[in-house]
Amino acid sequence: MNQNYVYIETFGCQMNVNDSERILTMLADIGYVPTDDPARARMILLNTCSVRAGAEAKVYRRLENLVVLKRHNSRLIIGVGGCVAQQEGEALLERIPKLDLVFGTHNLHLLNDMVLAAERGERKSETSFIDNDQRLDLFPPIRGTARSSSFVTVMQGCENYCSYCVVPYVRGPEISRRSGDVLHEVRQLADQGVREVALLGQNVNSYGLKSSAEPSFAELIRLVAAVDGIRRIRFFTSHPKDMSPELIACFGDVPALCGQLHLPAQSGSNNVLARMGRGYTREEYLEKVRALRAVRPDIVFTGDMIVGFPGETEDEFQETLSLMEEVRYIDLFSFAYSPRPGTRAAELADDLSRGEKQRRLEQLLAMQKRITMEINGALLGTRQTVLVEGEGKRPGQISGKADNGRTVNFSGDRSLIGTFVDLRIIQVFQNSLLGELLPG
Ligand code: SAM
Ligand code: SF4
Repeated sequence: MNQNYVYIETFGCQMNVNDSERILTMLADIGYVPTDDPARARMILLNTCSVRAGAEAKVYRRLENLVVLKRHNSRLIIGVGGCVAQQEGEALLERIPKLDLVFGTHNLHLLNDMVLAAERGERKSETSFIDNDQRLDLFPPIRGTARSSSFVTVMQGCENYCSYCVVPYVRGPEISRRSGDVLHEVRQLADQGVREVALLGQNVNSYGLKSSAEPSFAELIRLVAAVDGIRRIRFFTSHPKDMSPELIACFGDVPALCGQLHLPAQSGSNNVLARMGRGYTREEYLEKVRALRAVRPDIVFTGDMIVGFPGETEDEFQETLSLMEEVRYIDLFSFAYSPRPGTRAAELADDLSRGEKQRRLEQLLAMQKRITMEINGALLGTRQTVLVEGEGKRPGQISGKADNGRTVNFSGDRSLIGTFVDLRIIQVFQNSLLGELLPG
């Protein structure tokens, strides 16, 4: 079999990061090995995101640059996958004549055939959604993991239809993977040395709700925690409305479950939450945060927040800031609202100017920066157990994650990669901590 290089660029969320790993695993079967150098590649793939207009525009700009490479390399294959591919389909091939293939979010299993066709000069687009009963067998595994931490997809798609969000349209209906398949993958990863798994899905805490044959998400966590070798579990992303009492209880009595939870609020205003169609109030959200802190006092929260949603008043924006002060997120992903075609909110007037959205975003970011530094500051001098994942920021440093998800860099030998070490935190920064090894 000929060996070819593939260069893949991933945009957007962890689902895409995970899909890119899956894509590389599959492409190995037809002789493609990954490279970090696009100039060396026989094939360049973009795994794309369309959640905001800015993310989508980035993909088009990148494609414009990449097609130029075809002038020097006529054999080069260029493909687009992920959410922009799903949204645009054939239209992408028409818009970019030098593009060779377009594969949607349900079509990874067709990719190898499409690549072989592209090698013969055929241009193809596949973006049809697959029925849920057939999709269950279409979760190709990721092979060759040599890491200490790995993603494991437990569900895909979303049916929440938050009014601003394009995900249900580009990822399709929700589907939970069979628990047997999830556990099989977790066992295999543990056998390869993986010690931490991050359970992945657009809305993991609705796992299993549609099927009486499958466990609930809380039960699934307990099953994963029982797998030999797995010492840490995280999960992304949870919808606050599906944060059940039994899942909250897991934070109190499943030691492997890390004390970090990504719980996107999106807004602190009940009016805005209602217009977003989120299905919870500010008070209900805060009640869940309180319940989680009651069972796990050191738990830290991360979240997502949107500013400038249609009709958001200054008072409603201030309610978002006051929610942030109450929750005290350790980190926050914040976005200016961006209308997305086909969503319910796109029919509302996008009435806040770009400048006003930017002003609100900057105010929010400044507040978050302060809160993050205050929380990080309280970690100074503490002892943290870190799972070492790889090279650190500076030469001679290695790095890993503490239970609370913070990245910690420290001076140490590469042989520690893949192990747990105890560190004392000696300096804190905005996005990382500096530690020193404590005698084992
Ligand atoms: N499933 C996740 C959830 O419910 O929190 C989030 C998925 S989405 C890929 C990631 C984040 O993008 C959302 O939490 C939201 O804050 C942001 N987002 C989604 N649509 C957006 C839009 N139209 N404008 C601005 N931000 C948006
Ligand atoms: Fe989008 Fe809402 Fe689904 Fe998250 S839960 S993916 S924000 S529709």
